[in-house]
Amino acid sequence: MRPIQTQRIRSVVSYSLSALLFCELMVVATLVRAYPRFGPANSAAAAQQKRDPGRFPMRTAQPARNPQISKIVNEIDPRNIERTIRKLVSFGTRNTLSDQNDPNRGIGAARDWLYAEFLQAAVDSGGRMTVEKQTFEQPKATRVPQPTMLTNIVATLKGTHPESVNRVYVVSGHYDSMCSNPSDAKCDAPGANDDASGTAAVLEMARVMAKYKFDATIVFVAVPGEEQGLFGATHFAEEAKKSNTDIEAMFTNDIIGSSLGGNGVHDPHTVRVFSEGVPSNETPQEAMTRRSVGGENDSTSRQLARFIKEVGERYVPSMKVWMIYRRDRYGRGGDHQPFLERGYAAVRFTEPNENYQHQHQNVRVQDGIQYGDLPQFDDFNYIADVARVNAAALAGLALAPARPKNVTFPSGLSNDTPIKWDPNREPDLAGYEIVWRDTTEATWTHSQSVGNVQNFTMKGMSKDNFFFGLRAVDKEGNGSPVTYPRQAPRAPRTDPAAQPSP
Ligand SMILES: [Zn+2]
Repeated sequence: MRPIQTQRIRSVVSYSLSALLFCELMVVATLVRAYPRFGPANSAAAAQQKRDPGRFPMRTAQPARNPQISKIVNEIDPRNIERTIRKLVSFGTRNTLSDQNDPNRGIGAARDWLYAEFLQAAVDSGGRMTVEKQTFEQPKATRVPQPTMLTNIVATLKGTHPESVNRVYVVSGHYDSMCSNPSDAKCDAPGANDDASGTAAVLEMARVMAKYKFDATIVFVAVPGEEQGLFGATHFAEEAKKSNTDIEAMFTNDIIGSSLGGNGVHDPHTVRVFSEGVPSNETPQEAMTRRSVGGENDSTSRQLARFIKEVGERYVPSMKVWMIYRRDRYGRGGDHQPFLERGYAAVRFTEPNENYQHQHQNVRVQDGIQYGDLPQFDDFNYIADVARVNAAALAGLALAPARPKNVTFPSGLSNDTPIKWDPNREPDLAGYEIVWRDTTEATWTHSQSVGNVQNFTMKGMSKDNFFFGLRAVDKEGNGSPVTYPRQAPRAPRTDPAAQPSP
């Protein structure tokens, strides 16, 4: 037995050490909070954080606003959007099967007017924006009684960084319209909301963004054939796939025109962003992994939706990005689908409450109710706000580094979680952030800067208990969307009889 005196001294020493350790923990925790980029990688604070993740709030990749994005958002003008919509409506119908040569009525007139407008927008780009008519023959289909020429209007704003110029972001709206019968090419089909609203938003973004420089390339597209079967978008996506174009994200804006729903709800401060969970092009191998360890909420499209929410709400604080965790609404589809089917990340923007009396309806008054997709039901300020959310997210994507590639968990069982990835090539890269969340959370809740490295181990945090992700950040603080890691292939076993433990 030790003398009492010694024991007392020991406990005093031990108490003092504990107090010191506690103080150190507090100081480190404060530093990590104040200077997230300098957070010590494997410090006691990090250990503390693992045990109590709720104490450390999410630190975003872009804590400050990028002034270029703020300027872009401010320059979006609802008056231009209104002018575009009224002009598109003035063509009477924009049915894909309508007249292609009449200068005043039909889809041909709309096509030529849009082409001229995008050319006008390109004037301010100093030669960086080019505009083309992408024309193709659509074969017969259910809603296409005979082969028909369709023309996508494609305005490409080239990126200025050699390492990023081949990284492409696409934003689209469809300029065709329909009345009650999709094959009726003669009826009036004003399509002021569906989808002059989306087309006008894309044109306004092109006009504003053409003046600014981005690392990566942004493509502004107005497509026809949506109401006939997503044909313009399908052709564009197929051509991109054939030429191995690296489309890192695609937004379709379709029915973003009204803030007043058929349910009587007036909500000018919300836009829905639909993103699919299980990828449309998932392989059987990927499906097996997903069934085993989850990941149905972590497709590239869903990471894109989270990015849009984070960046869109930062630059347009009056707007709420309402993430809808499904590909599209019941019984409906959109131009993001052909992109999803070809493995591209894509989402759909749509107003929060729709009015079906104003969609796909002959213009008429029946029982005292005005039917038809008329400009009087559009809210031009609301459309401008949706365009601002789009523009902020697009600019955020095109200014940031690419999302990290080949992000994997090395195989093996451990209570630590090592993550490794391929290095980004951008010269302005600052480093990476690991993000994580509880498996039941909808969005990333935590992040930690790990520096410019190619691997990192989250000590004491098992990948069985959290979802992890990784994003790249440049020296200005622009952060990429998150990449969800996949399990690296299992290393060959030394003992062929060994089986995974239950
Ligand atoms: Zn539509």
